[in-house]
Amino acid sequence: MEEQNTRRVPLWRSLRIKYAITYLTIIVAVLVLLNTYPVRTSQQMVFQTKQVSLQSQAALMASALAGPDGLSAEGVARVMEVLGDTGLSRVLVTGPSGEVLYDSDPVGNTLGRYALVYETVSALRGNDEFRSDYQEGVFHSRAAAPVTYRGMIIGAVYAAEYDAEQGRLLVGLQQTLQRISAAVAIGALLLSLIFSSALTRRLGQLLSAFRTVREGEYSHRVRMGGKDEVTRLAGEFNALTDRLQTTEEVRRRFVSDASHELKTPLASIRLLTDSILQTEAMDPGTVREFVGDIGEEAERLQRITEKLLTLTRLDAAALAVAGPVDVTAVIGRAEHMLKPLARAGESELTVELEEGLVVRADPDDLYQIFFNLMENAVKYNLPGGKVWVRGRAVGDKVEITVEDTGVGIPEADIDKVFDRFYRVDKARSRAAGGTGLGLSIVRDTVRRHGGTVTARRREKEGTCFTVTLPRAEKEGTV
Ligand code: ADP
Repeated sequence: MEEQNTRRVPLWRSLRIKYAITYLTIIVAVLVLLNTYPVRTSQQMVFQTKQVSLQSQAALMASALAGPDGLSAEGVARVMEVLGDTGLSRVLVTGPSGEVLYDSDPVGNTLGRYALVYETVSALRGNDEFRSDYQEGVFHSRAAAPVTYRGMIIGAVYAAEYDAEQGRLLVGLQQTLQRISAAVAIGALLLSLIFSSALTRRLGQLLSAFRTVREGEYSHRVRMGGKDEVTRLAGEFNALTDRLQTTEEVRRRFVSDASHELKTPLASIRLLTDSILQTEAMDPGTVREFVGDIGEEAERLQRITEKLLTLTRLDAAALAVAGPVDVTAVIGRAEHMLKPLARAGESELTVELEEGLVVRADPDDLYQIFFNLMENAVKYNLPGGKVWVRGRAVGDKVEITVEDTGVGIPEADIDKVFDRFYRVDKARSRAAGGTGLGLSIVRDTVRRHGGTVTARRREKEGTCFTVTLPRAEKEGTV
């Protein structure tokens, strides 16, 4: 597959060739039509007019010749003289058995012989004949009519005409059409070449951009003029690459931050174990103290890895089917869990919720959100401080605020606290057992449930976090 993508497209499969073949087929079809249909139609029209004129001329001569005395060479010659110039190339008159009585072409020397041409024979059988063909620019038409008197066939008139004039007109038409066809063909071929090479050039540009990005150069962008579909494709490609670049940067930062976070407790553990191993006859009290420290660091590692796993789960999995959850019950559980911590920090935790707040969520996720926010409010509080958790319904949303009178967050950091591993006061967070991942878990979880979370500084002191989640109908809450 990989190899197939990097190889050059064989010429016979390339768009350029497909384009060229399509154009060529259309051109050839148009040219064939242009060079046959009009010429054929014109020929047919000439044939038809020839038939009408030549047959009526033959009939006219036949009726002039018809008479009670039958046909004789002198009689026919007299009548033909009276009729004058017929404008025909040749006129033959035969008697009832086909013997030539009159020939307008004296050089032909046919008098007295038998005119056994098809037309005359057929006319002597009583038929009106006409035949015409077109060869090398000349229309050659023949017509024959029987000479009848009182139902008796007494002879036949044969008239022939060579028309080079009409033929010339037709040749002229043919030549004009050929010139037009040549111009159309050259124009269409040039256009097809221009379009197909422009298209393949631009597709090639896009293809090489795809390859560059695939090789890992996420900063690469395609620059393409125009407003057509290929330009749109290039735009979409650039947007996709933007996204890829951001994701890649976040991933790299995350991996490096995570390794850094894991490195610190591991280094402490190494240091402590080395001290125990290298100090001979260390007193048991110190050993206990060091082992206790090692235990604490291990616990910290455990917390970090658990939270990292939670974040990975949030990144990867789509939200499972969420049912309606009673917010009061979930916050009640978190409150119950945090009471001892609040008591230890000498802060007061108050929960004031409206009746019947129900959201559609996963109950464990919801617990995680409020536990993290309330734990922070207690952790980053001051002795004698307060924490309020308030909830109300606003339109089709449920709004819950977690407010504290604690150490607060500087304005410059307020937006960054949701970033992974971001901590305003590292030492304080560390001392409180923080990992810098709690708020990013909150943000990701809230987003996954179609809600929002924001932080702001309180007027006097402390911080206020606001979570909004879509409201759900209260039926069979979890
Ligand atoms: P941590 O595990 O460090 O608490 P969090 O992601 O929960 O990580 O919070 C990130 C940082 O935001 C904390 O280290 C802290 O500096 C700050 N912070 C969070 N909540 C509060 C709060 N209620 N009051 C003051 N600072 C807070």
